[in-house]
Amino acid sequence: MSFAFDNVAMLVLAAVVGLCVGSFLNVVIHRLPKMLERGWKEQCAELAGDSPVDAPAFNLVVPRSQCPSCGHRIGPLENIPVVSYLALRGHCLACRAPISARYPIVELLAGVLTVVAIVRFGVTPTALAACVFLWMLLALTLIDFDTQLLPDNLTLPLLWAGLLANILGAAPIASLRDAVIGAIAGYLTLWIIYWLFRLIRGKEGMGYGDFKLLAALGAWLGWQMLPLVVLLSSVVGAAIGISLVVFKGRDHQIPLAFGPYLAIAGAIALFFGKSLIAIYLPA
Ligand SMILES: [Zn+2]
Repeated sequence: MSFAFDNVAMLVLAAVVGLCVGSFLNVVIHRLPKMLERGWKEQCAELAGDSPVDAPAFNLVVPRSQCPSCGHRIGPLENIPVVSYLALRGHCLACRAPISARYPIVELLAGVLTVVAIVRFGVTPTALAACVFLWMLLALTLIDFDTQLLPDNLTLPLLWAGLLANILGAAPIASLRDAVIGAIAGYLTLWIIYWLFRLIRGKEGMGYGDFKLLAALGAWLGWQMLPLVVLLSSVVGAAIGISLVVFKGRDHQIPLAFGPYLAIAGAIALFFGKSLIAIYLPA
């Protein structure tokens, strides 16, 4: 009886932690691309010999969150994951402008992924490592979807974190050897496809961020998972691409970012990869 209660309490705690992390991920998803853009503009100005502009600080902490419509400062009570959104019925407290439903959806997704990781890996360092992996993939998915960018300051730490988790003995599924080969093979696979595509079609099919993301997935999941990840990402990509064209009338000529599909495929491979690769790599 008490064992079951402890389990429920642990899952509730995991959900709360996940929701709060989701709230922070919303800030990262929203601000990181803008921070990068500011940095690039500053570098361009510096190279052009312009005097640096004294812009107000803008990072993950400052300025405090505010309503994009009226500038109203969002107080702590308006910032409780999901709950505030429901209590405010999706509108700003001050000006009643609608708040994007994406904020609570990202929070919910982070909460659900955290709970699923705890259920799958137990209360262990491995579960914590799996959570870090899933949270970063969630942020990368939405940033790439919004901006077609996979920032180095997320993909590279994700890669190092995969190798580190392995050294600390907290890697969810891969051995260190498989992880190192996975990181190298992940990068090279897409790099080769990119250059073949460029030589044959004279077009760029993907970006360097995609290579780094697949390298990171290789570091977390091991090289054996890479064919599965690429296959799954094509399936996920085709499914989402077709439904966007059918349901939203999206012009099929518009290139879709590849990163979100890789990230979703990586998350699927974390949970189901071992049983799926048993089909093509018999032990
Ligand atoms: Zn407002």
